[in-house]
Amino acid sequence: MNREDRLEAVTEDHDAARQRRIESARQALNAAGTKDCSDCGRAIPEARRMAAPFARRCAACQSEREREFYCR
Ligand SMILES: [Zn+2]
Repeated sequence: MNREDRLEAVTEDHDAARQRRIESARQALNAAGTKDCSDCGRAIPEARRMAAPFARRCAACQSEREREFYCR
């Protein structure tokens, strides 16, 4: 194997590893939470899904739920 081939092989390995990391991160995100609010059905903003991966509701519905819970 010449120098250029080796370099290419390393780059491909690197890309494959990165691709696997991205893919597993995406799968974890999908498994952890849902894309849509379970109450109103609207999409949960990605920023919220990142901050609260287990959130099943959008911030509005979640605070509504929490208010109900604490007012009982
Ligand atoms: Zn909602």
